[in-house]
Amino acid sequence: MADAPVDTVASVPVAVIGAGPAGLMLAHLLGRAGIETIVIDTRTRHEIETTQRAGILEADAARDLVETGVSDRILREGHEHEGIGLRFGGREHRIHFKELVGASVWLYPQTDVFVDLADARDRDGGSVHFGVGDTEILDVTTGAPRVRCTGPDGTRHEIRARYVVGADGSRGMCRDLVPGERRTRYRKEYPFAWFGILAEAPMSAPELVYAHSEHGFALISQRTDSVQRMYFQCEPDESVEAWPDDRIWETLQARVAGPDGFRLEEGPVLEKTVLRFRSFVQEPMRWGSLALAGDAAHTVPPTGARGLNLALHDVKVLAEVLLRALGGAGEAALDEYQPRALQRIWRAQNFSHWMTQLLHTTPGGSAFDLRRQLGELDNVVATRAGRTYLAEQYTGWPTSRRDH
Ligand SMILES: Cc1cc2nc3c(=O)[nH]c(=O)nc-3n(C[C@H](O)[C@H](O)[C@H](O)COP(=O)(O)OP(=O)(O)OC[C@H]3O[C@@H](n4cnc5c(N)ncnc54)[C@H](O)[C@@H]3O)c2cc1C
Repeated sequence: MADAPVDTVASVPVAVIGAGPAGLMLAHLLGRAGIETIVIDTRTRHEIETTQRAGILEADAARDLVETGVSDRILREGHEHEGIGLRFGGREHRIHFKELVGASVWLYPQTDVFVDLADARDRDGGSVHFGVGDTEILDVTTGAPRVRCTGPDGTRHEIRARYVVGADGSRGMCRDLVPGERRTRYRKEYPFAWFGILAEAPMSAPELVYAHSEHGFALISQRTDSVQRMYFQCEPDESVEAWPDDRIWETLQARVAGPDGFRLEEGPVLEKTVLRFRSFVQEPMRWGSLALAGDAAHTVPPTGARGLNLALHDVKVLAEVLLRALGGAGEAALDEYQPRALQRIWRAQNFSHWMTQLLHTTPGGSAFDLRRQLGELDNVVATRAGRTYLAEQYTGWPTSRRDH
């Protein structure tokens, strides 16, 4: 219905589909440079704000939130982590990032990153429309693309733009705008998922603990002094109804148990979700006047804590090239986006896949597979080179123009 009448028409240089971290950070970076955007999202602000997702930010991403004026709340309410625990064979080994590579990460939930970005848009007079429906994206192969959507009150809107950014996540529609015969989709499915819980309990450990056991993987993570986030490996089609609190705690305790007597602090489970994941990259990340950013172009298994960081890195590069394109360099400036973004994306794909195969047990795997995995884990923790590799990858890579 490309030409059906609409109730409102607005024109901006950049229209952004998706108000996740990629979409909102892009709008913020462009806004700082005086470029107006309109961001639309199908979900309400409340829905996005209350959906548990990532929890770990690279130090560079944390610094960007502060230095670009989004908010300095991360410095007051976030927690700087100088390492992680790796548990296997019933023992814990600390990977000390600060000592190994001079870097750290920040524990700061994605829900807080979202609140900071959405508040910054409000504060700076940015235009963000939540709860829209019927998103249509038209004319992306021309220099005058349009976005159409219906507001929560039924009003039909049209946004006319010079560029459209698809930041609509892993289930979005923008990636499909690149014609099938012109795109390549690289993907890998995993034979397991994560069972995620939010529990009202004291912290069991001061930093994240990644646990390998013969029963499967578990991740012990934190949110606040009294609310914790934990995950354990489960079947991809697992049902949350089959998991009363007692069964969840028994499973988690078995996965972290060891001769050192480590035990998790237990409490009422507030939320249970089964999270399926895969590795995915679509190329190209740009088609005509459309650019894809964040999970819309790629997803990684959550094991390496890369997804949110990658989304923020994409838009940092994209904002820079869009400013040049709109500042007179024209569309050719956008040619730089994909190669610069992809270098980090494939590094992150490799690391996320490596962490996943290192820590998860493969259904139907043999005793050999398990012993080999323990050998690999031992190689990681027992040598400085192994620990340094993990520390370097987990804390991220430099974000300068000449990444290396
Ligand atoms: C359990 C879990 C743990 C994770 N842990 C980490 C971690 O520790 N560190 C890390 O870096 N990453 C982590 N991630 C990944 C991280 O959450 C994502 O990579 C991140 O949300 C990507 O941001 P985005 O803005 O690209 O996409 P999203 O956050 O998915 O935002 C996309 C938005 O687009 C909207 N949208 C979709 N379709 C339309 C449409 N047609 N019209 C308008 N809007 C639309 C959606 O409603 C959504 O709000 C984790 C993910 C999960 C699930």
